[in-house]
Parts: sequence; structure tokens; C-alpha cells
Amino acid sequence: MRNRMGSLLFFLTSMLFAAGVSAQQSLDAMIDSDIASLVATYKTLHAAPELSHHEEKTSSFFANQLRTLGYTVTERVGKYENPEWTSYGVVAVLKNGPGPTVLLRTELDALPVDEKTGLPYASKVKTKNDAGQEVSVMHACGHDVHMTSMLGTAKMLTALKDQWSGTLVLIGQPAEEVIDGARSMIRAGLYERFPRPDYVIALHDSADLEAGKVGYTPGYAMASSTSVDIKIRGLGGHGARPESTKDPIVVAAQVVLALQTIVSRENSPLDPVVVTVGSIHGGTKHNIIPDEVDLQLTVRAYKEEVRKRVLASIERITKGIALAAGIPDDRLPIVKFSETQVTAATFNEPQLTERMSAVFVKVLGNDNVVKLPPVMMSEDFGYLSLDQKIPATLFTLGAVDPVKVKQSRETGTPLPSLHSALFQPLPEPTLRTGIKAMTSAVLELMKKN
Ligand SMILES: [Zn+2]
Ligand SMILES: [Zn+2]
Repeated sequence: MRNRMGSLLFFLTSMLFAAGVSAQQSLDAMIDSDIASLVATYKTLHAAPELSHHEEKTSSFFANQLRTLGYTVTERVGKYENPEWTSYGVVAVLKNGPGPTVLLRTELDALPVDEKTGLPYASKVKTKNDAGQEVSVMHACGHDVHMTSMLGTAKMLTALKDQWSGTLVLIGQPAEEVIDGARSMIRAGLYERFPRPDYVIALHDSADLEAGKVGYTPGYAMASSTSVDIKIRGLGGHGARPESTKDPIVVAAQVVLALQTIVSRENSPLDPVVVTVGSIHGGTKHNIIPDEVDLQLTVRAYKEEVRKRVLASIERITKGIALAAGIPDDRLPIVKFSETQVTAATFNEPQLTERMSAVFVKVLGNDNVVKLPPVMMSEDFGYLSLDQKIPATLFTLGAVDPVKVKQSRETGTPLPSLHSALFQPLPEPTLRTGIKAMTSAVLELMKKN
């Protein structure tokens, strides 16, 4: 009896295993037959990058591809603070019976970088930026990898429609690099005009991780970012007569140093924070004490309460030092927290993240799925979770030639980072892995019972 039960169990398990394996084999086979055209799409996108707020051709190419696949596509979804700018957000919906709504996000924009990879499909695009200067443009953050992965995933999921049930929402988000694109889409009614998601998923490529691998980071993964502008005002005069001035350069120097105590003395060491003064400008000549000095800061934090406390400290310290220097009340520093160059932290909802990483292990193998530490860089993906009300997760997609990663580790020479003019993803294995991971993630969340 026990033997018969045992062999029955063995038979059932083998059947299930075979079904799992064959589903994976069929996904691999489907990707195989499409990979050449997907790599061509990637190269086309790579050669034609557009800056943030200017993703006109990219968005229409992306929208048309999804329309051809049978998605219901809406273009120009988004509204910026500046009413003169057009938001090129794309929303594509595929309804496939009852079930959860899953939103996948890709970015559309590129960077003002002069590509130096020497690749045959390298970007030669030059354009005018918002300030009217001529700049070169490059997909140096790999948003072309993300778009192509999404187009591949979109195709797989239409072909596999009998394996899932629910609503799929794919968005092409503009202006990630200037962190106002996600907000522009939410402001324009992304979650009212279109199905509101139960889960939000995205991938971002990595300039350190091998192509073929994915990474995941449960909990806080990326920091919030706030740009701060400080204008320190003094009373200018002759460089040889400091006694008749209030020198804003000396005040600025004290402010820069005093700001360092926010992280070291006012903040719990268990709450990661960065306060960086990235720019300081003042004065025109050796022997003139100027009227003003301008500082530009970036503040990074995970928790919102920490961010608010740090901003209050910046204001208190700056004004306090100006007061101590005897600057009159009507010349106190002006401290501005940007309302546009600001973004929420990326919090990868732990349960969803662990569930996704288990799927990745199943389809990519244990060795190809790595847990990665959080970073203090930022992106605007966090907005799509509506302050963590919707479970969201951003996973990392390895994009670098494994041979180069190995060489870099052996020689201690760092690889070109994201945003570098030399960043060079290895298209085919990166796209294969991105499409396989993303498709499997959606199938897991919307599988038919
Ligand atoms: Zn970037
Ligand atoms: Zn990016």
C-alpha cells in the first residue's frame, strides 16, 4: 500500500514537475523565436534617445508596438507642474477576465551624455536642452533595455493569455531622470482613468551585475531625494575693508561645515541620511566681498519623518549661523526646498518582493538571483505605490557582460556606471532575462486557479 502510494505520489510529482519545466521551456522557446527582432528593437531605441520631457518619438513608437499587440493604448497621459510641457506618458491595458490588476512600468527618457562606447548602434543624437544649449543624448541609464523588456513581456503575455486571468496595465513613464514623470501621470488620473493596480512591478538594469542575473532588495531599496537651494545674503564691500561688510562667503563656509553635524550628531546612526552640498557659487573678483553666495544641496533619506527633520535642521542651522554672524533680520538666508526636484523613497513591499524572488529562483536558478543591499540613489518609482498603499517592487536586472564583471573583480578596476558615456549593456542575455523574469512575475500574480 505504502509502495503504491509512494509511486502514485512520485508519478504526480513528476507530472507537475514536467508541466512546470515544459511551461518554462515553452517560454524560453517563445523568447528564442523573438529575440532577434527584440535586439533589433533595442538597437533602434538605443540609437534614437530623447531627453526627459521630450520623449515624443519614443513614446509613439512604444505605443504603436503595444497597439499592434492588441493592447488598448492611450498616449500623452500626464500633466506637469509647468503647463507648457507635454507629458508623453503611455498607458496600455489588456483585460483578460476576472482577477488582480498588475501594473508594469518602464521609463522612456534618456540623458544628456555624449556616448563613447564606439558601438555600431551608438547614439549620435544631438539636441537642444531646456536651457537652449546643444547637448548629446544617450540611453546611459538603460531605459531602452527596460522598454524592450516590456515590449517582449507584453508579447509573451498576449501569447500566454490562457495561463492568466486579470488586467494588465503597462506604462511608459516619461521624465524619470528629472523625477517628475511618475507624478505627472498620477496627477493626470493614472489610477482613476485606468484600472488601479493591486501590484506594481518594474525592473532597473544594473551596471555591476552580470547579464543573466536579477537582484532584489526587500524593504527600503532607494532613498527619497530632495533638492535644496540656499541663498546666503550678506552685505558686500571692498575686500580690504571687511569691518564694513557682512561676508557671505565666510558664513557659507561655516554653513557647509555645520551641515555635516546633521548626519553625525542629530541623526540616529540606524537611519541612513546623506546631506551633500553639490554646488557653491559666490563672488566675482579677488578683492570684492560679494552680497550673496548660492548653495545647492541634495538630501537623501529613507523614512519621511527623517527627511522632514533633516530639512528643518538645514533651515535652523543656516539661519542660526547667519544670525551669529550679525547679518540683519531682513538679510537672513533664503532656504528653498524644491517642490519639483523631490521624490519619495523606493520601498519594495517585502512580501511581494520575496514572492517575486521565489519565482525568479524557479525560472532562472538559485545562482542567478541575488539579494542586493539598498542604496541612497533615488528614483520616482515610489510614487506609483501611493505612499506604500499599493504593494510595489523594483527589481534589478543584470546587464553587464559576465567576462567584464569577472575582469573588473580580478583587477579591481570599476566598470562604467549607469549614466556613464561608456555604459554598455549586453543586449541579448539581458533582454532574455528581463522578459523571462517579468513574464514569470505576472504569471505568478495572475495565474489561473
Ligand atoms: Zn538614471
Ligand atoms: Zn534609470
